[in-house]
Parts: sequence; C-alpha cells; structure tokens
Amino acid sequence: MELIGSVKTSEWGKIGNDSEVCRIAQLNYENFQVNASTPYAEFWMGDHENGPSLIKSSKETLSSFLDKSSKNLIGGHQKLSFLLKILSVSKALSIQVHPNKEEAKRLHEERPDIYKDPNHKPELAIALTPFIALCGFRPYNEIQGFLDKILPLSNLIGNQNVQKLNEGESGLKACYTQLMTASSDKISECIEAISKNYNETLAEYKLYKIFNKMNREFPKDVGILSLFFLNVIRLKPGESIFLPANLPHAYLEGDCIECMSCSDNVIRAGLTPKFKDVPTLLGMLNYKGEPAEEKLFKPDQRDEHVQIFAPKIEDFAVVKFHFTSDIKEYKWKNIEYGSILLVLEGERILRTETLGDIKLYRGSVIFIPGNCGNFINFVKSDNYQGNFTSYLASYNNF
Ligand SMILES: [Zn+2]
Repeated sequence: MELIGSVKTSEWGKIGNDSEVCRIAQLNYENFQVNASTPYAEFWMGDHENGPSLIKSSKETLSSFLDKSSKNLIGGHQKLSFLLKILSVSKALSIQVHPNKEEAKRLHEERPDIYKDPNHKPELAIALTPFIALCGFRPYNEIQGFLDKILPLSNLIGNQNVQKLNEGESGLKACYTQLMTASSDKISECIEAISKNYNETLAEYKLYKIFNKMNREFPKDVGILSLFFLNVIRLKPGESIFLPANLPHAYLEGDCIECMSCSDNVIRAGLTPKFKDVPTLLGMLNYKGEPAEEKLFKPDQRDEHVQIFAPKIEDFAVVKFHFTSDIKEYKWKNIEYGSILLVLEGERILRTETLGDIKLYRGSVIFIPGNCGNFINFVKSDNYQGNFTSYLASYNNF
C-alpha cells in the first residue's frame, strides 16, 4: 500500500528545496505546494497520532486502517511499534533526553499535560548528508580539560564542583547540575566572556564555528555551554548513532533518516524556547563519560547490498538496501509485524508473494503488511538503469 507521509514544519528545519523533507514530499505527494520560505523539518512515516500517514488511494489514515483491519497485518500488534522519519536540520534542535519505559509511564501519569505519551523513545539516526550531533557526556578528562582552560566556565561551575569531577559520575552530576541551575545572568556572562576571549581555545577544539552558530541561533542559551560537556559527533553520510533512554543528545545540522519507538516523549535541556523540566532531566541523565568514537552505531553488513541497523531493543530496526543496476532482483525475508519502506534513489518493482507488484520510485513510501508472504523482492525495472537506495523500518526481528 502506498502511503503519503506527514510533513512537519518547525523553525529549525531547512528552508524550501534545501530540505530533503521538502524534496521528498513533492515526489511522495502529487499536490504538495512548496513555499520557498517555509522550514520543512520532518517527514513522518507511520501511525503515530501526531502525524499519521495516509493511504494514498483512499486518503484514510494508516492508523484507522490498521484499527479496523485484521491484526495479522502487523503480527497481532495493536499499532506499529516504530516511527520512521526524515529530518532536515538547519538550526539546532533542543538538547534533550528521552525517558525509559518505566519513567515514561510515571511521567505521563503524574503530568499528562506535559508528558503526553506513556511510551519510551529510543532513537536511531542515519546521516544522509554530513551531520552534526551532540551525543552523551564526554570522557571526564576532556571535560576537565575545558574547565582547566576556560576560566569563565570553571568559575560558573565552582571550584568545589570542579574538584569532584575526578569522582566520576557523581562529580559530573554535581557540575552539570550547577550549570543547568545557574541564573540566566551568570550563563549569559559566561558565554559572552568565552566568545570574547577564548576564540583560540574554541578553534583548537574545532568548536569555534558551532559555538558561534549556536550563539547566533539561541543567544546566551545554557545549551551552548553543553558543547563542553557533551560529545560533538560529526557523521559522514551513511554513518549512524543510537540514542538509548537517558542519553543527552541534540541534532545540530544536516539531513538524516530517523527511526524510533512510536512515541513523542521529550525532556528538554536547552536550545529551546519550550518548557525545560530541569529537575526531571537532572535526575534522569546517564552521566557516564565516553569518547565520541564509541557513540557511532555500527550496522551489520549482511552482504554488499544490505546493511542492518538493529539496536538492542525490540521496537525497531532499519535495513538499508543499495542495488546497482547489475542486480536484477533481490529477495528479502518479510517480517510478520509489518514494515514501512522509504525509497530515496532510483526505481524498482516491489514484488510480494500475495499482493503482486508495486512500482517504487524516489519518494515512494510503502506499507508492507506482515502477511503478504515470506519474501519481498526488489526487481529491476526495464526502463531504469541507475542505482536504487531504500530504507525499510520494522519491528526488530534480527
Ligand atoms: Zn531525541
């Protein structure tokens, strides 16, 4: 079944046709009207109520269709366990953390006005362009290095806290708590002092550009100082990161594919005009300091055409298919829980055992039911000679 994805605009999105979200939306949806000054931020594919995909032929939402159909379409489940997205990021997203399952449930019960979703939200991001993100705390010695060199920062954190840093997690928690609870005047002074007097230090750590970009986008925001506490990760196209519960992160720049548990649960820590729940955040963070290299998520290279991104959670996995034109067909085991296929490059025919053929093209989004046979087959189309690239999101059966 062909789907129409749900487009989200947000001020952090890339503008007009600079945005992969916008370019894909035009191919996915015939009557999509591009506004050259609109920031197109997200393209959602799935059945989440905040942005359900539509079935192209009937314009019914995928969620209402699944509600009234046989549960065999998604392996007996009630809903899809995952949500697939394209993100086009021009301006930093808020620094955030997602609760684990128990915390999500508790937060939703205690404060349903803010925490609207009772589900956890681990995320996987696969870069489509060079992509910059903040991900997890830096190793303690790196943070110590910044505190030693950047006096306005160590003054803000306070000597007592800085000295605790060699105690590991509890020391880092004391330092980060001091940062996140400092008055906005103190934060603002600190950022100003760094931007005046520490350009060389910023350049030495390759933080000059990003520090100034964030300071332009979110002037004097505490999130800017998180650059000295969190790993700055620069992904090349095709590289990925996995963000388990309680790991602080932010997407700063670039386009990516994102897959997550079907949820919209966020606790924010900066770079946002939205509500920041600082006490909840501080109590929940994973304070382990780890080097940036360890944050890269390594897919399983099944063969020269297929990579499997399967984090250690049940809710989702993403399979990337890349076929050159010499590959006439490629069979892949179908997953009984249902899956969603997104095509980013080229053309093929998708052949299922019981539902026949469907034409795939850049911008196609297809819901593949769990009960359409044991295999799906990507068959080369006669009139297309180029490469083909697509992403298949599903329950994690790997
Ligand atoms: Zn997130």
